[in-house]
Amino acid sequence: MYASCPKSGKGKPHQKRKSRLHARGAQQPYAFMPKLSKALYNKLWRKVAYVRSTTHIKIKNERQLWSWSLDKIDDLTERQFICESTKDGFLVDWLLKGCPKCGGKVTPLQKDSRAGKDDWFHRCTKDGCQMRILPHHGHLIFRTGKGKSWKPLRLQFKLLFGIVAGLNTVQLHRLWPVNEKMLRSMSIDLDKARQLDVQQKEPQIKFGCPEEGKWVDVEADEFDAGKSLDANEPAKLNWEQWGGIIQRGVPESLVLFKTRPKKTKLRAPGPGPIKKTDWYPKAKKWLKGRKVMLHTDGARSYKLGINRKRRMDGIIHNYVVHRKKKINGRWVHPKFVRLFYNRLPDGGELYTKGGTQVIDRAWRHMREFTRHRNPTDTRSFLARVRSAQWVYWNMHKDLFAATGHMLKALQG
Ligand SMILES: [Zn+2]
Repeated sequence: MYASCPKSGKGKPHQKRKSRLHARGAQQPYAFMPKLSKALYNKLWRKVAYVRSTTHIKIKNERQLWSWSLDKIDDLTERQFICESTKDGFLVDWLLKGCPKCGGKVTPLQKDSRAGKDDWFHRCTKDGCQMRILPHHGHLIFRTGKGKSWKPLRLQFKLLFGIVAGLNTVQLHRLWPVNEKMLRSMSIDLDKARQLDVQQKEPQIKFGCPEEGKWVDVEADEFDAGKSLDANEPAKLNWEQWGGIIQRGVPESLVLFKTRPKKTKLRAPGPGPIKKTDWYPKAKKWLKGRKVMLHTDGARSYKLGINRKRRMDGIIHNYVVHRKKKINGRWVHPKFVRLFYNRLPDGGELYTKGGTQVIDRAWRHMREFTRHRNPTDTRSFLARVRSAQWVYWNMHKDLFAATGHMLKALQG
C-alpha cells in the first residue's frame, strides 16, 4: 500500500488515504463518515449513548441519605459516639494499634473519674509508660489541644461533618460558635488528608480493560485553575494549568497532572492549549495499549501523530472542533458533540459520540471547589485541587462514610 503512494502527507486524495489508514486501524481523516441516509443517521444518533459504559448509574444526591447525620451524632452517649466513630474509621482503634509511645497494650476506654467530666481515654498498661491516650490522639484532622482553643471531640466531629457536606466557613460559623481560624485549619487539614489519599490511589488507576477486548471512551482536556504575577518579571503572568484524563461513566478514573504553560503578557486570556511535551508522556503512561477511544477538543497537541508510527497502539483519537477552524483545507464549524465512525484494528466497526462533555463538567466542579483559594499559595492550592479530585471520585457515594474509610486507610 505504501509503495503505491509515492508521497505520504497532506496533499493526497481522500480515498487513498482512507484505505491505507483504515487497514491499520489508525486515525482517520477528520469527519470521515460512511454515507448514511438521514433516517439511519438519526437512528444511530439515538442508539449510540454518549456514555456507553453499562455500569454508569445516575444517582440523585437529594434522595441519598448518608450513614451519619447531626441527629445521630447528638443521640449517642459519649462512649457510644467514640465506639461508633472508631468503627467507621474516623478514630484510630488504639486497642488494636497499641500505645503510640511504646507500642504496649492499652486498657479499654475508661472515663475520667473527676466530677462533671465526660472524657474518655485509654491508658498504656506498661510499667513506666502509663500514657493517657485520648481517642483522637495525633489525629490528622481533630485537635487535642488545651486551653482557649480546645473544643470537645464531638463538636469537632460535627464541624467535619459540616465541611464534608459542603458548608463554607461563614455557614459553619453561624451554626456553631467556633472561630474562623479553627474552621479554616480543619478545612486545610481535610484537604491535605484527601491529597495524601489521592496520591496513594491515583497511580493504581487503569483506563479501559484491554483484556476484555472492549474499546472504552476516554476524554482528555486541560483547564486553567488560576493566574498570578510573576515574581521576577512583573509584566508577566504565571498560569496554573492542569491536564486531566477521565473514562466516561467512571468518575473515580479522573487523573490530573500539572502542565508547564508559558508565561504570558498581562492581558492574555489564557496560557493557550496544553503543550505536546506535557501531553505525550501522560498519554503514553495512562493510555497506551489500553484500547481507548480518546476524545479531545481540536488542540493540535493532542494529536501526537498517534499511530502513524505505531508508537501509540491501543488509542484511537477522535476530536471535536470547539472553534471554527480550517482542517485539511476545509472550514469546519464548531460542534461540541458529534458522531464518529471508527474502524477497529481487528476489522470491527464502532460508532461513538465524540465530545468533552464529561471532563468539562469535571472542570466546572474543580473551578467551583478552588474558587476561594489563592493560587499563589502553592501548597494549599495544590492540596485543594487534589481535594476537589477526591470529591469528584466519590461524588456518587456517601461522602462522610468515604471520609471515614479514607482516615482509616491513612491512620491505620
Ligand atoms: Zn506506652
